[in-house]
Amino acid sequence: MIINADFHIHGKYSMATSKNMSPITIAPQAKLKGLDLVGTGDALHGKWLQIIEETTEETSDGIFSLKDGLTDPEEGSKEETKEVSQNIEEKGNLESKFILTTEVEDMKRVHHVIIFPSLESAYNLRGKLKGNMDADGRPRVRMKGDEIMELAHDQGCIIGPAHAFTPWTSIYKAYDSVCDCYGKKPDFLELGLSADTDMADMIEELQDIPFLTNSDAHSAWPHRLGREFNKMELKELSFDGIKHSILNKKIHSNYGFDPRLGKYHKTACSKCYKKYEIEDAIKMNWRCPCGGKIKKGVDYRIYELSKWKKPHHPQHRPPYIHILPLAEIISLTYSKGVTTVFVQKIWKEMVHKFGNEINVLIHAPLEEIEEVDPKLKIVINAFRTGTLHIESGGGGKYGEIMLEHNTLDNYI
Ligand SMILES: [Zn+2]
Ligand SMILES: [Zn+2]
Repeated sequence: MIINADFHIHGKYSMATSKNMSPITIAPQAKLKGLDLVGTGDALHGKWLQIIEETTEETSDGIFSLKDGLTDPEEGSKEETKEVSQNIEEKGNLESKFILTTEVEDMKRVHHVIIFPSLESAYNLRGKLKGNMDADGRPRVRMKGDEIMELAHDQGCIIGPAHAFTPWTSIYKAYDSVCDCYGKKPDFLELGLSADTDMADMIEELQDIPFLTNSDAHSAWPHRLGREFNKMELKELSFDGIKHSILNKKIHSNYGFDPRLGKYHKTACSKCYKKYEIEDAIKMNWRCPCGGKIKKGVDYRIYELSKWKKPHHPQHRPPYIHILPLAEIISLTYSKGVTTVFVQKIWKEMVHKFGNEINVLIHAPLEEIEEVDPKLKIVINAFRTGTLHIESGGGGKYGEIMLEHNTLDNYI
């Protein structure tokens, strides 16, 4: 069985997260993105666990499905969910399933992703970690990485570093080796939006570690949820199936951003986002004249950690397929905001016609896209042929896609 899975999102109790982030909204939205399985996020938070128990049921070991007949979402998401629910009635059960996951921050401010086998294991780990598990969906734990790993493994969980190369809260911000954090190799490593396999396979110690690509979404907007995901080969859809697939390196492919689009790809100021060459950043003592801190880019951090001049892909490493959120492509095509009704309407039309977003982006014949939207076809073609221009992100600002000059001339 082949599935698409995104293991790292945040629920509504995490800081700076949409109030709509609850299972009832996430499940249908994730399916429209083409995800079969999505992490619950925040599975150590008491109220979030309660919501998961109220709105979902365990349909196979460690896998949770939305209960039937749920139509009363949180205030503010009613319209959207109603619309999606209507689609569900039309098209049968179109909801993604869930697996229990969380992100935690350790005492060195390193972020880790944990995937749980059961509700019981989540409640158990919640009782054992030192810190207030209910202060935020992503709790701060007063323990070191190796201690957290040991407790997680005792509960049958798997664990690895989140967005491993970013300049604020990642393992390679705090350490030069993953083993310095865990005392051994983690079960997986999450690449984060600012890195891909070509970059991470520059680092020798990562050769035998499977990579995950997850969205870290804080909202269910289609340009956030599932913007990175893993295509996986499973024996069965269960926690054991997932664990086996990850530990035995059966990930079929990683789908994710061109790393230049990530927020931390280049070295840049975290306040005014001006990009800096590394020598200049050092000379200026990592202080921008605007008063902001200059943060080291993921590209340079990986260069520092690498002895090699080019990537060494181990045999088990799956292909990494660069994708962009379709909503951003539509937004670019029509110069309208990505969350506007206009863009969302076209997004839904395309997704309904072709089944899901990945089909529109990668598989749908251009002639068929042209029949629906000739202007959009030109930009999707530019995406497929790699002729979209990308302005790299850095310092906390996402990279931007731009059209080459003249691309849409016939339409202006
Ligand atoms: Zn994080
Ligand atoms: Zn600045």
